[in-house]
Amino acid sequence: MRTAVIGYPRVGTFRELKFATEKYFRKEISADTLKNTAKGIRKNQWLHQKKSGLDFIPSNDFSFYDNLLDAAVLFNIVPKRYSLLGLSTIDTYFAMARGYQGEAGDVKALEMKKWFNTNYHYMTPEIDDENELTLVGTKPFDEYEEAKGIGINTKPVVIGAFTLLKLLRYVGNKTAEDYIGAVIKAYSELLSKFNGLEAEWVQFDEPYLVYDLTKEDVKLFEKLYNGILSAKDDVKVLLQTYFGDIRDCYSSVISLNFDGIGLDFVEGKETLDLVEKQGFPSDKALFAGIINGKNIWKNNYKKTLTILDTLKEKGVNTIISTSCSLLHVPYALKNETKIPEKYAKYFAFAEEKLEELAELKMLSECDYSKAEVFLANTVLLGNRPDCNDKAVQDRVRKIRNSDFIRLPEFSARRKIQKEEFQLPVFPTTTIGSFPQTTDVKANRAAFRNGNIDEEQYIEFNRKKIAECIAMQEEIGLDVLVHGEFERNDMVEYFGEQLNGFLFTEKAWVQSYGTRCVKPPVIWGDISRSKPMTVAWSVYAQSLTDKPMKGMLTDPVTILNWSFPREDISLKESAYQIALAIRDEVLDLEANGIRVIQVDEAALREKLPLRKSDWHNEYLNWAIPAFRLVHSGVKAKTQIHTHMCYSEFTDIIKAIDDMDADVITFEASRSNLLILDSLKENNFKTEVGPGVYDIHSPRVPSVKEIKSALHKMLERITPEKLWVNPDCGLKTRGVVETTASLINLVEAAKELRNENS
Ligand code: GLN
Ligand code: ZN
Repeated sequence: MRTAVIGYPRVGTFRELKFATEKYFRKEISADTLKNTAKGIRKNQWLHQKKSGLDFIPSNDFSFYDNLLDAAVLFNIVPKRYSLLGLSTIDTYFAMARGYQGEAGDVKALEMKKWFNTNYHYMTPEIDDENELTLVGTKPFDEYEEAKGIGINTKPVVIGAFTLLKLLRYVGNKTAEDYIGAVIKAYSELLSKFNGLEAEWVQFDEPYLVYDLTKEDVKLFEKLYNGILSAKDDVKVLLQTYFGDIRDCYSSVISLNFDGIGLDFVEGKETLDLVEKQGFPSDKALFAGIINGKNIWKNNYKKTLTILDTLKEKGVNTIISTSCSLLHVPYALKNETKIPEKYAKYFAFAEEKLEELAELKMLSECDYSKAEVFLANTVLLGNRPDCNDKAVQDRVRKIRNSDFIRLPEFSARRKIQKEEFQLPVFPTTTIGSFPQTTDVKANRAAFRNGNIDEEQYIEFNRKKIAECIAMQEEIGLDVLVHGEFERNDMVEYFGEQLNGFLFTEKAWVQSYGTRCVKPPVIWGDISRSKPMTVAWSVYAQSLTDKPMKGMLTDPVTILNWSFPREDISLKESAYQIALAIRDEVLDLEANGIRVIQVDEAALREKLPLRKSDWHNEYLNWAIPAFRLVHSGVKAKTQIHTHMCYSEFTDIIKAIDDMDADVITFEASRSNLLILDSLKENNFKTEVGPGVYDIHSPRVPSVKEIKSALHKMLERITPEKLWVNPDCGLKTRGVVETTASLINLVEAAKELRNENS
C-alpha cells in the first residue's frame, strides 16, 4: 500500500511565512524576499515529506493567504474594484485578502468565512456578470515545476470545480449554471497543461460533497466532471473529499471517470458502510483518509488496520491517506520541549503523522499482529495517565435541569437592567481586546521568561489598563473594557489557568492569512482552582464609573479551539468547562462587575455539516453549556455574548436560546440579511452588529458607519441596537483603532440626535 497526504501546513515550522508576510505588509521587505521565503518553506517541506517515504506529495497546497483565493485568481475571478487599483499581481491578491487603503484607492476585503467545520477561514471569491471565468494563472504549474526541479514529482492540488462554484458569491444575475461551460473549459485546460508537464496525478479537492446535497447539486457535479474528465489524457485525476462522508453522491462519484477517490474514514460516519454496501470500482484507487488531519492524538493502529484489512479483503486498491489536509494540525512534536514525555508520547503532529503513514504502510504489508510497532501502539493507547478527576465527573453528573435556566426571564430582567445602567440609546462598546502592541507582548514574554517578576508584570498591565480606560472615556464609549493585555489568546489564557489542559510552545495552526492559533490540548477532566480574571476586572472597574465588562470565553469556544479528547464525549468536556466558567462568572459578579461578556466565538464552527445532525449531535448540549455558565447571576447583571461571525440565520433560535441579554456579532463584511431574519424570528436579545471590519487596517468614516447603522435601523428597533466594531481590536494598531472608535462614537451621537 502506498501513502499520501491531502495537504501540508504551509506557514513554516516557526511561522516563517507569517513573519515574512507581515514584514512585507509593513514594507520592510520586498516582494522578492517574501517569495524566496515561501520558496524555502516549500522546498524544505517537500524534501521532508520525501524523506519520510511518503508516496504522494502534494504541491500547490501552499498559499500566501488562502487556497480558495488562489483558485479565484487562477481562474480570473478578480472583481474589478481590485484589478482597477493597478497594483502588482501580489498586491492585488493581498488587496482581495485584506482590503486596501492607499494612494491607489480604498477597497474592502472579500468576505471571509469559516472553512467547513474548521477554524481555518477562506476568502469568498466574488463573480459578477462581466467576469470571464478562464484559466489565467500559473501558480499550480509553477509550484509543480519547482518541486520537479528538486527531483520530486508531486501531486498538484486544486480546489475542485464543484466546490468552487458552490462557494463563489454571485453578485450579478448569473448563477452557477451559467458558468458550467467556462468552468469545464478552464479545468480541462488545467488538466491538459499538467498532462503536458507530465504530472502523474492531479488532486481536485471537493469538500463540498460532504454536505447534504440536493438532486440539482448532484446533477451539477456530474455535469461538471463529465465535461472535465472527457478530454483527460494520461494525467490521473483524484477526486478528494474530506470533513465527512459523501452519502448523497457516492454512486455518481464511483461511476464517473476518476482514477482515484479520496474518502474520509475519520469524520465520515458512513464512509466504510458506503464502500461495503455499494462497492468500490476495481479500476480506481481509494485514497483512504484514516489518519486524523484535525487532531493531534496518535493513530489507533488496531482500528486503522482493521479498516485496511476490510478494504484489502474487498480487493480495493488502497492508498493510505489523511482524513483532510494536515493544514489543521501543527508541524512537529520535536519542537515541544515542555510537554512531559509521559504525555507527549500520545501525540502526533504533521511530521509524526508522516511517520505513522510510513509505519502503517509497513504494517499493512506484513502479519502485523506480532509486529513490535503495532503492539507498542496498542499498549500505549490502552492506558492514558492523569485524566480522571472523580469530583469533576460527579459535579457534571449532578447538574439539574434548573441549572440551565436563568431567572427572572428575559423581559423582566431587561427592565431591571435599563433601570440599573441608564445607558443612552445606541450604547457604544467594544468587543474586549485593544491593540496588542509590541510592549504588551514584550511584557508578557518577559514575565514568561522570568526576566521580570510578577509585580512588575502586573504593574505594567495596570498602567496599560489605566491608559486604555482613559482613552475610552476620552472617546466617550459607554460600556468599557479593560483591554485584555494579559491575554495571549482567548482560549489559551483560560486553559492555562484551568486544570486538565496541556500546552504547546510552537504548535501553531493557521486560522486565516497570517494569523495562527496555538490550541491547547484537553488532556483530562477540567476544573478551576481559583479565580482567573477577577483581579484585572476589579482593578479596571475601580478606575471608572462607567460599567466595565468582565471578559470570559464560553465553554464551547474553549472546547472548539482546543484539541479535544477522543476518550470522552465533547458534551462531557463542554459541561466540565461550563461549570468552571460559571464559577468565574459568579466570582466576577460577587466582586462588583455588573456586565459580563462571555465570548462565543466558535459555536458555529463545529456545527455538524449535515443539518440532520445539528441538534442531536451538537446544539442540544452546546447551547445548554452556555446557559449553565450564566444562569446563576442576578437579574441586574447584564450578560453579553460575542460571536465572530454572522452566518447564524439557520440557527437563530438556538442563538436566542442562549438567553444572553446582548449579542454582538460580525456584520460589516457580510450583507445585513441576518437582520431581516432577526426581525422575522422575533429575536429577543439586544444586538450589536459590528459596524466596521477589524480584520483590516482601514479607518471607517463617520458617514460609512452611520450608513451601516441606518440600514440596521430599518430592521431593528432603536432600543435594541448597540454600536460596536466587529470583533476585538488586538490585531490592530493604536492609531487606526483610536481614529475608528472616535468615528464610531461620533456616528452613534449623530444617530441619537436624529432619533431624539
Ligand atoms: N473578547 C475577545 C477580543 O476582543 C473576543 C475575540 C473574538 O471574538 N475572537 O479579543
Ligand atoms: Zn470576534
